[in-house]
Amino acid sequence: MALTTTQRSPDSTAGTGLPDPPQPAPNCDVCGALIQQWRQATEVGSPAYDLSHAVDLAIEIRRHPHNWKKGRTT
Ligand SMILES: [Zn+2]
Repeated sequence: MALTTTQRSPDSTAGTGLPDPPQPAPNCDVCGALIQQWRQATEVGSPAYDLSHAVDLAIEIRRHPHNWKKGRTT
């Protein structure tokens, strides 16, 4: 009786579905904290490793308003 379990846990997919690193504002503490969380969430082997969470963090960084910034981002 051959139990063909083809469902192997893919452990070689690291690095393929990694989202693009977000661009945090250089002088923003919030963005700085978010990018740190993003790095932990994208670090393979990290207890905080969670790519879907990393995507959320990246969106949060990109959406973070910086009205104090000189000039307007169009
Ligand atoms: Zn910010």
